[in-house]
Amino acid sequence: LNLGSTIRFIVLAALLVLLTSLRAAEDKRIAVYGPQTFYSLNVVDRHGAEYVGLLEILEPLGAASAKQDGDKVKLRFNDIEGQFTDGKTKVRLRGKDLELTTKFLIENGRGLLPLRSLTAVLRPLLGTVEFHEAGRRLFLGGAVVTFAGDLMKTPASRLVLSFSAPVNPHIATEPGKLRMVFTREPLMPPRAASIKFEDTTITSASFGEHNGAAEVTITGTAPLLASFADGGRTIIVSASPQPAQQVAQPPAAPAEPPPAAAPPPQPAPPRFTIVVDAAHGGDDRGATLSDQLAEKDATLAFARRLRTELANRGVAAILLRDSDANFTHHQRSVAANAANVPLYVSLHASTSTSGVHVYTAMLSPVARKPGTFLPWDEAQTGYVESSRAFALALAAELEKRNIAAFALPASVRPLNNIAATAVAVEVGPPFREKEGFASAVYQQAVCAAISSAVSSLRATLEAAR
Ligand SMILES: [Zn+2]
Repeated sequence: LNLGSTIRFIVLAALLVLLTSLRAAEDKRIAVYGPQTFYSLNVVDRHGAEYVGLLEILEPLGAASAKQDGDKVKLRFNDIEGQFTDGKTKVRLRGKDLELTTKFLIENGRGLLPLRSLTAVLRPLLGTVEFHEAGRRLFLGGAVVTFAGDLMKTPASRLVLSFSAPVNPHIATEPGKLRMVFTREPLMPPRAASIKFEDTTITSASFGEHNGAAEVTITGTAPLLASFADGGRTIIVSASPQPAQQVAQPPAAPAEPPPAAAPPPQPAPPRFTIVVDAAHGGDDRGATLSDQLAEKDATLAFARRLRTELANRGVAAILLRDSDANFTHHQRSVAANAANVPLYVSLHASTSTSGVHVYTAMLSPVARKPGTFLPWDEAQTGYVESSRAFALALAAELEKRNIAAFALPASVRPLNNIAATAVAVEVGPPFREKEGFASAVYQQAVCAAISSAVSSLRATLEAAR
């Protein structure tokens, strides 16, 4: 036995333990989302609790200073004063006493605050504070990013995630799983932490918060791919067109020219499909049509009736909502554009006007240049003429059925954001009949007129794409 090498081994082992523990400490983070700022700080473990530097958390948020006086730290933040004592839970802040969950610590002149008392200490200093303790994410009365997902099934399964502000997550994929990690974005949890889809390609999505980051994980039965749209406000997750075998090549294969890549499987040519959007929904009831009837319910019933009528003519309709869900205009346009169909029809109902109004966007037509991107607010400009042509054709079909019809430009959301021929149809009660809007015969006639206009303009609509 060689004593020298044994000592060297012990030193090495001790160093390894030290390095490992340093590494572990380094890896624990807290994310802070301020009104104008984002930062991330180290978290340390002391006596079985997690701590963060008191001054470090406050410095980026205002004029902060701390002075040590014996076993006390005197804090000044903007014009607020506080006093913390080493080894004590009692804190004097803004002239009031408060109690920490675990004792305050001073280490080499650095004040350490237990994470579990973070909100209690920060609230008197900053106002609104929200701390997601398990994921170590601190929100300080600033902008947050919310998001919602919508699974589209036609022509191919895709999950459309719409964010309230541009995002730039780190994306990692493994077989059947796609993970997005949001470090810098104050992404708030959605209503449900996980959701299962009745879909053969995209089967579930879940949200989690971990070590100062938010994660969205999507699982599927095929390799998944994420693409960004709308300046980072939309992420579309779909099955990757790459065959799965390409990823799992045996590494030991002899070097030889790779076999010609098999063409990606071509999806079956989709039926002629359009998007039908029943306006309003959920909290947004729309107009009150009668004591019993809200516009949101009338438009949904109408959309379903229209879907049936279209199906009879070989036209498939994607209903952006097929339930009492409330989607924002932004979500509707994102979903409609992701569906990549030649026609978008928004449905409204009204009792304040008679007959049917067919609205198109109030934008000046602009010729589309292939390969160029239009600002989101002007997505419709390249389609203004085909939208007007469709509105006129629809008005003619309505008149044929003795229904008063008006085609006119108007500012109706989200028409400006639709990158396809797009109209908003507002169905009012018929002029001469007493039965009014609720008459099934009348509704059927309006649906027949829309379906007839769609099927007769099918070729024109596809050409306008
Ligand atoms: Zn409406």
